[in-house]
Amino acid sequence: MRDPIIEEIKQRINIVEVIQEYLPLKKAGTNWKGLCPFHSEKSPSFMVSEDRMMFHCFGCGEHGDVFTFLMKQEGYDFPEVLKLLADRAGVKIERRDPKIAHERNLMREIVELTSRFYQKVLTDSPQAEAARQYLSKRELKPETIRAFGIGYAPEGWETLCNFLNKHGYKDDDIINAGLALRSVNGRGVYDRFRKRIMFSIRNHQGETLGFTGRLLPEDEKKPDAGGKYVNTPETGLYNKGGDVNKEALIGFRTLLFGLDLARQDIKKNDLAVLVEGNMDVISSHQAGIRNVVAISGTALTDDQLGRLGHYTKHLAVAFDADTAGANAAKKGIVAALRNGFIVKVIVIPEGAGKDPDDCVRKDPLLWKKAITEAVDIIDFLIANVRLNNDLRSVDGKKEAIKQILPIIAEVGDPVVQAHYLKVLSETVGIPDDVIRSQLPKRGNAEASPRQTDAEAKPRLSRTRMLSERLLAIYLTDPKVRPEVQNGLKSEYLEGEELKDLYGWALAGYTQNIISLPAPREERAIELAEILPLKLDVEPAAEPLNEVKDILNILASLHRQAVRERLETEMRDAETIGDVARIEELTRAFKEL
Ligand SMILES: [Zn+2]
Repeated sequence: MRDPIIEEIKQRINIVEVIQEYLPLKKAGTNWKGLCPFHSEKSPSFMVSEDRMMFHCFGCGEHGDVFTFLMKQEGYDFPEVLKLLADRAGVKIERRDPKIAHERNLMREIVELTSRFYQKVLTDSPQAEAARQYLSKRELKPETIRAFGIGYAPEGWETLCNFLNKHGYKDDDIINAGLALRSVNGRGVYDRFRKRIMFSIRNHQGETLGFTGRLLPEDEKKPDAGGKYVNTPETGLYNKGGDVNKEALIGFRTLLFGLDLARQDIKKNDLAVLVEGNMDVISSHQAGIRNVVAISGTALTDDQLGRLGHYTKHLAVAFDADTAGANAAKKGIVAALRNGFIVKVIVIPEGAGKDPDDCVRKDPLLWKKAITEAVDIIDFLIANVRLNNDLRSVDGKKEAIKQILPIIAEVGDPVVQAHYLKVLSETVGIPDDVIRSQLPKRGNAEASPRQTDAEAKPRLSRTRMLSERLLAIYLTDPKVRPEVQNGLKSEYLEGEELKDLYGWALAGYTQNIISLPAPREERAIELAEILPLKLDVEPAAEPLNEVKDILNILASLHRQAVRERLETEMRDAETIGDVARIEELTRAFKEL
């Protein structure tokens, strides 16, 4: 099953170096340890082994290799991690379709170069004076403009095309990248974006895939100026939802503006704030509130939600107060609920402006407060119905149920759904089984409830800890093996997988055979890699003595456990007066 390319990458990449980019690691024996990034802890139980090319957390049980680490830490898909690490390791991956790969690389180069071109024009060109003034009026700092890759598309029909031609790119490729159009007579091409402020649209990894161009305010009223916002059309690199060639576009269907700069903060806060406009994102980031992303004009897609779900399942949605915004919000919210998100609504306080951008510029604290005080979606909807209806009247109750129940019907998580039904039932004063009986069928019934994040693992029992320690020493120190093999009975060990591991190791050491069926063997191999890491945290000073001690304790813990079991069974036998069973158990007691 082991892919030679993946193995080669793992060999070439130092897992310690990669993980150290995210958290400090200290040397512990031959391994490294640090505070686990996947659960919260005060003393380090996260181990990284350079030799074994793996990590393991003894607190929460997360473990894996450098691929698993990046997928968990960054929320990347496997193909993304593969590409990232292959680049880093200098390993070439064969693409399935070299033509698509070539076109995609070409487009990416063109878009990247164009982004730099627009940025340079914005900072240096006299033509961009009005744009610079506009941005400074919106109080954007130069570092913010740089961080978001904001630029300016100059006036003129061929400025960009000429620039790109000079860099060796052909007209057809520029058209494919969505940056130019063929003129009506078919003979020439011209720039798609002219005299616009350009926002880079990037994926979560920070690669520029397209642009949104915004008119200068002075041009907004001109009849021939075009729409206030123009997006790059759907290209191989960018699309705004809908059917696309997934082979060509894998990884590019999920764009949310600002996600590349927001994702770490989203994860840290376990909350994504969703706004409508790019400027909302930019000013919020500038004010230090960075867990904010925007959808660009459309409703949230399942793909975007899937991407976001890598970082959090909590969404706070802020939309403009106009009706279009409310509708878009509704559409996005239903999709989010269906995808298992917990959704809140951010209400921008009275007098703080019409959108988050206004609000932040007025006072970042107001915006921060609005996010903190976001209300649960169902409470928000109930309050909305209450505005125009008396919920004590029959009509009011019916109206509330009519408006809110279809939304509750979409909730993907059954626990959340039951909670909402209860809230609605209490609000209108109608029993929740009556309301539940009205529940419409879901628009999209396929979604299964997602598993909630694993709860913190319970503390290990003493027997389990000693079993693990004993086996760790047994696996790493050949000198103690005879002692263990003489003194250890499999039933002393706690956990079927440890019993398997011991049986497997024993058969391997003494008879050179593999004694387990494949899936259990894999688990044993895994444990054989993981357990010895523990010894690096607490090395065995005198392995042989420690092994003897552990064997004694395990034997006595085992006797104690057996005695307790016999006692329970004895009480049961006495209760029902089973004489034969009582005699049998008495004999077993004596044998102990
Ligand atoms: Zn952990």
